[in-house]
Amino acid sequence: MSDNIIFNLIDKLEAENSLSRDEWKTLIGGISVEAMEYAAKKARAVADRIYGKDIFIRGIVEFSNICSRNCYYCGLRAGNAGLERYRLSPDDILECCRSGYEYGFRTFVLQSGEDPYYDTETICSIVRRIKEEFPDCAVTLSIGEKSYEEYKAYKDAGADRYLLRHETANEAHYQKLHPENMSWKNRMRCLKDLKKLGYQTGCGIMIGSPYQTIDCLVDDMMFMQDFKPEMIGLGPFLPHSDTPFKDAPKGSYEMTLYLISLCRLMLPNVLLPATTALGTIKPDGREQGVLAGANVIMPNLSPVQVRDKYMLYDNKICTGEASGECKACIEARVKSVGYQVAITRGDHIRGEKI
Ligand code: SAM
Ligand code: SF4
Repeated sequence: MSDNIIFNLIDKLEAENSLSRDEWKTLIGGISVEAMEYAAKKARAVADRIYGKDIFIRGIVEFSNICSRNCYYCGLRAGNAGLERYRLSPDDILECCRSGYEYGFRTFVLQSGEDPYYDTETICSIVRRIKEEFPDCAVTLSIGEKSYEEYKAYKDAGADRYLLRHETANEAHYQKLHPENMSWKNRMRCLKDLKKLGYQTGCGIMIGSPYQTIDCLVDDMMFMQDFKPEMIGLGPFLPHSDTPFKDAPKGSYEMTLYLISLCRLMLPNVLLPATTALGTIKPDGREQGVLAGANVIMPNLSPVQVRDKYMLYDNKICTGEASGECKACIEARVKSVGYQVAITRGDHIRGEKI
């Protein structure tokens, strides 16, 4: 594929924020060092125009690694008998937020497996307590597939954002990644409900998940172009040794960076993290993610004693440091590429092109 065709498509994406299915296929299939550099330069300029030199940080509290689901790729899957399980109490979670607030975090992300122990009222009361104690902070939930009524209850309790990666926009691919009792249609229903309820909604995928093809990635871009999420989580798939996909190859670092840039050009205002998985696959992956157009980093606020038990994939980074060290490390990394950590909620900026 000639570089010119690819550069023209990148220009078109920047100008129009959307492409046809065939154009996406050409653009994604046409990845090269030159295409990555060209897309990253434009994506970074777009992010700078909208969010300036600020990189938003989110303190993530991984409050339970107990999960009733069995996604084939994930180390927390119920079928992984080798994992020592833990739950944090509401008081423990509040304590994590207190230390996070001291360090300058103004968004708390509560993430877990699908753990029925935390029923609707428990989650609502945790959200209410955080919002009461830290009214200047945003609360993001990432606790999986729930009913409309449950999502509404969390929202009424004060939750601002919800992260639920769609994992793949291709139904047949979804079924290869999940057992039969999980449904792509329900995942999509959840995302639509979240949007309808007014959450800043995040979807996303693992790059290079088993059986993923270029056509799957095209489906993902077409879906996101239409859905217009406020946040997109993109990270490479990384195998976990106690899952059915233990021998699957890890995802492509380069494709992850390239898609970060293309997502920024497609949805200029989107909140786009440089994920922990990106930092796991390459030591400076998150810095390179920022340079490719990402504007969010999510350091860990969980107590150090439980960090190494939230093992989605092998060799996950940031399991040893205390929260304060994580924050200092991220600040230095962000600074090393010419950006600064912002002490703010870092909400999605609404509206059309800026
Ligand atoms: N249980 C909730 C859910 O599934 O939405 C939230 C927690 S789940 C661990 C968060 C995300 O981790 C998933 O959406 C998935 O994309 C990612 N993940 C799980 N296993 C992974 C792996 N082996 N490599 C990379 N990312 C993984
Ligand atoms: Fe559970 Fe989420 Fe892991 Fe699936 S991805 S097994 S729902 S924690």
